[in-house]
Amino acid sequence: MREHPRWSDAAETCVPCARKAPRPELPEHPLFAPWRRELRETAPTCVDLKVPHYLKPESFDPGPGDCFAHGSVAWLDEPRWPSCGVCARPLEMCVQLTPAVLADFLPGGRGLAALFCFHCGVAKNSDPRVAYVRLVEPRHRVTGPEAWQSASSGWRRESLRVTPASPATELPPAIWYRYRSEITPETASSALFGFNALDLDGPFPKGFDPDQLEEVGEEYDDWLAQQRGGASWGGARLGGVARWDQADATPSCAHGEMPHLLDYGGGQFLDGALHVFSCRERVCELAFVAEF
Ligand SMILES: [Zn+2]
Ligand SMILES: [Zn+2]
Repeated sequence: MREHPRWSDAAETCVPCARKAPRPELPEHPLFAPWRRELRETAPTCVDLKVPHYLKPESFDPGPGDCFAHGSVAWLDEPRWPSCGVCARPLEMCVQLTPAVLADFLPGGRGLAALFCFHCGVAKNSDPRVAYVRLVEPRHRVTGPEAWQSASSGWRRESLRVTPASPATELPPAIWYRYRSEITPETASSALFGFNALDLDGPFPKGFDPDQLEEVGEEYDDWLAQQRGGASWGGARLGGVARWDQADATPSCAHGEMPHLLDYGGGQFLDGALHVFSCRERVCELAFVAEF
């Protein structure tokens, strides 16, 4: 604790939510006790977006006031279905969010549309040419091509309604801190969970027996699992930390590291996700990193 007073910079990596969520209720834990207050006060707030990919989809023709995923309808600024800047194929619909839902994170009257080329995007996973990930005014109803060869792991022909949940708190799992440790080696979470994690060699807090501990990351994840009222992943999420699958690859713009805005899996990105980031000064275009 003396050497690592700060737990982590997780909150600074997220676009904050204007609506407040109840703070997480974490049980006592002798090892994490010195940082429990910081964890509670800085837990990022996020909004889970439920994509009913595996449920029986309802018949649904999305309007400009709906959030939706999959299908071949989009509501965009221009009356034209976007295509890939590398292979010229039409992009595959991922997700669209209304201005009202986005407003708690990015006010300004625009929603968000995310379409992606799964043919090119595996090799060029953060190249702006292979996706249309933009803030949009939903003015024009545009439709994708009739004959369609999906290259994602599970695109659905029907548009699926996406349902936002109430704001909730999300503390990152141990693996997130492990990836983050390369960027913030000085924090306590990096010292405990990082690639160069310390050997725990006391003095230990009262009530803590290191011989009982198998793996400190697992201990932390088990501890988090005991909290009440945390967020639950429904296929997409606004805010919170980027749920990296392989490595922290947070992009930067002229204004520094870009805060995380949206994770979208939706059944189209295997175990990974489309991670979307917004400029800290809201000057630059959105950026993304896709993981599969
Ligand atoms: Zn392409
Ligand atoms: Zn910027």
